[in-house]
Order: sequence, then structure tokens, then C-alpha cells
Amino acid sequence: MRDKLRKSYQVQKELAQKGSFEGQIALSDLKRLGELIPLEAAAVQQRLIDVSFEFLRHELDVPMVAGRLETSLELLCQRCLRPMEHPMSVDFRLMIDANDEMVEHSSDDTLYSDGGYIDISEVVEDELILALPLVAMHEDTDCNENWQVAEIQAEAPKRENPFAVLQQLKTTD
Ligand SMILES: [Zn+2]
Repeated sequence: MRDKLRKSYQVQKELAQKGSFEGQIALSDLKRLGELIPLEAAAVQQRLIDVSFEFLRHELDVPMVAGRLETSLELLCQRCLRPMEHPMSVDFRLMIDANDEMVEHSSDDTLYSDGGYIDISEVVEDELILALPLVAMHEDTDCNENWQVAEIQAEAPKRENPFAVLQQLKTTD
């Protein structure tokens, strides 16, 4: 049985108790993420992120927080500029207060506590930002029938002969 989410967690205490938690975080509480994705205000307010995680001891003998988050975000398709549903499921494993040497020798990243406390919504927000696609597009590659045309037009100026510009300058001389 997992406990409900709290705002912050005292790392050493949770590690000793093998604390494990699950619950939901409102997307509207994640301000940095909200700035990155152009979402309709109403849609943002209703969206939740399912989160479950536990405190464990990492192989490198530092505390660790490991868990999973699931949600679905509304992103803007860069092909047709219409909204698209983007389901996300992210597993995370983070050492807590590991030193640089440990980070170098591990495939896991570290999280730095604030005087021994961590805020899980910060972790969730960072993980979601890292997992966002660089360019979001509908799976259906035909979602914008004008796409091919637009692509060719965008490339056209690059192919322009630079000497043509020089010639134009000469004639206006
Ligand atoms: Zn699209």
C-alpha cells in the first residue's frame, strides 16, 4: 500500500521507512512546463499526472528516488499546427545528493536535496520537460496536405545562386 503524495519529503526518514507513494499532480501546478507547451488554459487545468515512486538505496550507497509518471499532454503538431494528444510514460531513477564522481560512474543522474528535503513535483516537472519531443507531429504524415509544398518553398532560398545577388547589385550600380 502506497501513501498519498505530499509536497516535500525528508530523504533520510523516507529511506529508513522505505517510503513509497502514489497520487496525482495537476499539470497546472507545473509552471515551467506550462511555459514550454502552448496549451489551452482550460485543457491544462483538467490534466493530471499519475505519479508513483519510492525511496531506495542506490548501488553507490546514496539515497535514490525511483518511479514512474504517466500523463497525456496536448501539444501542437508542427506539420499542421493543430493540437495533438501526446501520451507520455516516463520511468525515472535519480540518486539524491550524489557527488560528481558518482554521477560520472553511474548511468543515473542526481537530484540535489534542499537541506535533506526533496519536492517531488520538481522531479516530475524536470522528467516531463526532458521527455518532451523536440518536434511534435501527428503520426499520420498526411495531416497537412500542403506540407510538401511548404517544405519545398522553405528550402528554395537556400538553393539560390549567391552570384545572382551580386549581379543584381551590379545592375543597380
Ligand atoms: Zn498534424
